[in-house]
Amino acid sequence: QLEEEKSFIGCKTKTRDGYNCKIYCNMGSPEDVQQVLNNDGEGIGLFRTEFLYMNRQTPPTEEEQYNIYSNVGKKLKGKEVIIRTLDVGGDKKIEYINIEDELNPFLGNRAIRYCLQEEKLLLTQLRAILRASKECNIKIMFPMITAFEEIIEAKKLLEKAKKKLIEEEKSFNKNIKVGIMIETPAAVFNSAEFAKEVDFFSIGTNDLTQYTCAVDRMNTKVSYLYSPYNPAVIKSIKMVVENAHGEGIEVSICGETASEELLLPLWISLGIDELSVIPRNVLGIRKHINSISRNETLINEAIKCKSGDEMIKFLKNKSVI
Ligand code: PEP
Ligand code: MG
Repeated sequence: QLEEEKSFIGCKTKTRDGYNCKIYCNMGSPEDVQQVLNNDGEGIGLFRTEFLYMNRQTPPTEEEQYNIYSNVGKKLKGKEVIIRTLDVGGDKKIEYINIEDELNPFLGNRAIRYCLQEEKLLLTQLRAILRASKECNIKIMFPMITAFEEIIEAKKLLEKAKKKLIEEEKSFNKNIKVGIMIETPAAVFNSAEFAKEVDFFSIGTNDLTQYTCAVDRMNTKVSYLYSPYNPAVIKSIKMVVENAHGEGIEVSICGETASEELLLPLWISLGIDELSVIPRNVLGIRKHINSISRNETLINEAIKCKSGDEMIKFLKNKSVI
């Protein structure tokens, strides 16, 4: 890592005109925590819990999960940890989770859809997360939401888990914050309504790009069409941020685009509250953000671009000035 970047350890992430944007980290394996701390991540914006379920024969027990979540939370010493419930299916296969072969796995039984059908699996996870929230700063996030009812059902299950824990006299944070990932065009267009039901949004631009451009994110034959610079993706993100802030909730980006230097001026100008990136990108992004200012008109100019290529050219020109 560049020595120069290391000098940004302990600094705030703040544009020249004084706008604070938090730089959080994505993590899969609990071992990634050390990297988060070494790189001065301001929190964990996406804990991909599916890795706890992989390379084994049965799902992790409540106790195993509780220990992992609370250890991660304790190491973060009061900083926020956003735990995403199991995002299985699509590109993420788990041997003992028998999702039948599907013609279109990315459009099939995955993530929150599967978990709402397997109530016990999700309840166990929610209990573990809740119990860990008693001593750590933990939030819960549900993936791949498309329909309003999924939010209601997931929240109902969370209430059920809370009620049971109260009966068992187990403590947890009763005001734990609940958010959803915005990863589908349906979630984008429903975001005004969804924002009334949850405490925060996190935009998963990997899937949002896949579903908006109708391009399988793993298929190299059509990857030339997979672009977060496609104006449709940028317009979607604009809509989500406006709808979130209209309801007074925070919105972050946790897909790969959170690390794209060319897009950073757009994210801060839009007023993204938090970017969640791989640990080794934290300091470089902080350095970059601390060197630029917000430009309120940038987004409206950007969405006039006709294509992804035009968007890239436009943003390159802007970053020179
Ligand atoms: C995303 O879709 O952008 C995201 C962050 O989730 P994942 O990459 O785990 O699907
Ligand atoms: Mg995703």
